[in-house]
Amino acid sequence: MNEDRDSLTQWIDNERERIISFLQAFIRCKSPNPPGDTTEAARHIMDFLRNEELEFRVIAPEATMPNLIAAFDGARAGKHLVLNGHIDVFPVGDGTGWAEDPWGGKIVNGKIYGRGACDMKAGTTASIFTYVFLHRLRDRLKGRLTLTAVSDEETFGPWGARYLVKHHPEVLGDCVLNGEPGSPYTVRFGEKGPLWLEFKIRTRGAHGAYTHASESAIKVAQRLIGDLELVTEIEPAVSDNIARSLETARESMDKAMGRGAADIVSKVTLNIGVIEGGLKVNMVPFACRFEADIRLPLGVTKEKVMAVVGKVLARYPQASVTEINFNPPSYCAPDSAMVGIIQKNVETLGGFKPTPIVSLGGTDARLWRYRDIPAYVYGPFPHGMGSTNEHVDVEEFLHIVRVHALSAYDYLMAG
Ligand SMILES: [Zn+2]
Repeated sequence: MNEDRDSLTQWIDNERERIISFLQAFIRCKSPNPPGDTTEAARHIMDFLRNEELEFRVIAPEATMPNLIAAFDGARAGKHLVLNGHIDVFPVGDGTGWAEDPWGGKIVNGKIYGRGACDMKAGTTASIFTYVFLHRLRDRLKGRLTLTAVSDEETFGPWGARYLVKHHPEVLGDCVLNGEPGSPYTVRFGEKGPLWLEFKIRTRGAHGAYTHASESAIKVAQRLIGDLELVTEIEPAVSDNIARSLETARESMDKAMGRGAADIVSKVTLNIGVIEGGLKVNMVPFACRFEADIRLPLGVTKEKVMAVVGKVLARYPQASVTEINFNPPSYCAPDSAMVGIIQKNVETLGGFKPTPIVSLGGTDARLWRYRDIPAYVYGPFPHGMGSTNEHVDVEEFLHIVRVHALSAYDYLMAG
């Protein structure tokens, strides 16, 4: 180990309690999205950066959803690494089902509990401390390091990372490191793309006894939903190295995302998340609407899916479709320098080699990949993500901090 790497691991060990209490306090700053007001959580980061005498900028196209950018140059020219994490979290509702206060950040049996513990205030904390520690080494570093802590991620909103990559090209860089939850056993180089569609069915409607007088909009919807399964038969077209990576990663994907994940990562999936229709039991319904969440794997385009949807809809003149949301699937090289760096650091620290995988869910990392900037995700297990009793294991969290700090250092020094 060289001296700088020794310093990084020592700082993390010496400031362990500070890193942990930063995350606990971060969780206590409520930032559920919706509504997405992150001012308190952003202030927590700003206070910390000010305390470290680090400069930053606030970019807030929407006042309640601020984004923070900080950057510094090393002593010599080199590559530009961007650290990215979001500060908004899923909502909690009334907190039913939680054993601990969802906004408490309490430690129980070596685990930090609270909304955002794993998704992704732990990962964003890793980015922030990586930035702070590398800044201490700036006189010896090559290249440039940028920190982006963003709002408006959970709802694919326009005021966070999407705004930054569009209007502030200084956040683009050569590579991105992100700590979204996944699994310490995986490095994510790609993700599926959601296509959300709303279908509306209209019929004349009638008295419930007069089924001869009108078709039922609900029954039409039922048949249409069945036929839409056709989209799941679309075959993806991917390059050989991606296909090989996905095949090699089967076990890791099942371990990270549950058994069966490896089977659907390369398939189009269809979920009907919402259905509404009918007014009363004794009426033949004249209207029904439903929302479909179709997930596109790498190698399937929206056009391909919509062609199949169009073919199905041709059989249903009573139905129409509109797009609610679409983010294409994204990926970058599964075998780049950054992947090698992360794997080596995890092997040294944890004794295992993380596998490059594609994830089912989405992250802001896609926004950089859309611009051909490789973006990798290395984060903790998603315990209770988007559900109850969300938590992160304290030691796993510190492992993520170490991997991010050392990998950011190695990446810049290799440049
Ligand atoms: Zn997230």
